Amino acid sequence: MPSIVSIKNLSKTYASGHQALKNVSLEIERGEILALLGPNGAGKTTLISAVCGIVRPTGGSVTVDGHDIVKGWRQARRAIGLVPQEIALEIFETPWNTIKMSRGLFGLKHDAAKIESVLRSLSLWDKAHDKNMALSGGMKRRVMIARALVHEPRILCLDEPSAGVDVELRQDMWEVVKKLRDDGVTIILTTHYIEEAEAMADRVGIINNGELVLVEDKASLMKKLGQKRLFIELDAPISALPPKLAKLGVTLADDQRNLQLVYDSEAATSPIPDLIAVLSAEGIALRDLRTEQSSLEDIFVSLVRRAA
Ligand code: ATP
Repeated sequence: MPSIVSIKNLSKTYASGHQALKNVSLEIERGEILALLGPNGAGKTTLISAVCGIVRPTGGSVTVDGHDIVKGWRQARRAIGLVPQEIALEIFETPWNTIKMSRGLFGLKHDAAKIESVLRSLSLWDKAHDKNMALSGGMKRRVMIARALVHEPRILCLDEPSAGVDVELRQDMWEVVKKLRDDGVTIILTTHYIEEAEAMADRVGIINNGELVLVEDKASLMKKLGQKRLFIELDAPISALPPKLAKLGVTLADDQRNLQLVYDSEAATSPIPDLIAVLSAEGIALRDLRTEQSSLEDIFVSLVRRAA
């Protein structure tokens, strides 16, 4: 099945001369949650805004549900709901009216049943006729999502859904987003919380300095997360690494006193008992040992550093 969003060699240079996107290509599959992860100023908002037709690219192309965002902007725009980073609601309006007006802006007829179902799906039905200003921060954000969903878009773009949201509400937000995905909506979100990408995404795209440096299934990233490093400090230096240790994948540092082994902590069997047995058989005494787990954060930091 063709991707729902196809981004090809996308570039954006702002009038200031700043190049915010450099030749980004990315295919977004139907029904997935894709998290764009990157530090401040990386180009995440610019990318999502180009997909939503708010920022005009200076190079490359984007198609949304088969429509080019420039030539077929009206149809492309209809396929997308955007929840911007900042909460922007008429404070004296009610959630009901906010959504009703949004439908009007898309030229859709009033549909009370549709408004009710969107409000119910976001647990806002009992607040439908309260003033927006009387809602909590998390509820306001859900009204923003409801507003973005009322024209029944197939794609929902969420720019920093957790900005200014406390930890508990963040988890509620994650549940809301996953439920939308289960209902068939494709989700593209930006975040600079690694934890958020880990909790929600099916795939993670890492963006830094206007470049997409990696796009990978969260499952494969988690596999990388499963990698552990074992560090062993020996009691005394050794002249050479015994072949039996080399066979296990152990390496000897230049100081000839520290050993290292990278292994998969999720594998059925651990190499550590064999390693200890070989050390003991060879009469090599150890002074200390420790392990380190690589995290998505390590992967992120090393990629960002490498690309800098
Ligand atoms: P954040 O996490 O802080 O929201 P971001 O990854 O979303 O950051 P963008 O907002 O896309 O980053 O900005 C990318 C770069 O482009 C930044 O250096 C920013 O200053 C610059 N930029 C964004 N909008 C404009 C604009 N309208 N004119 C000029 N430069 C801009």
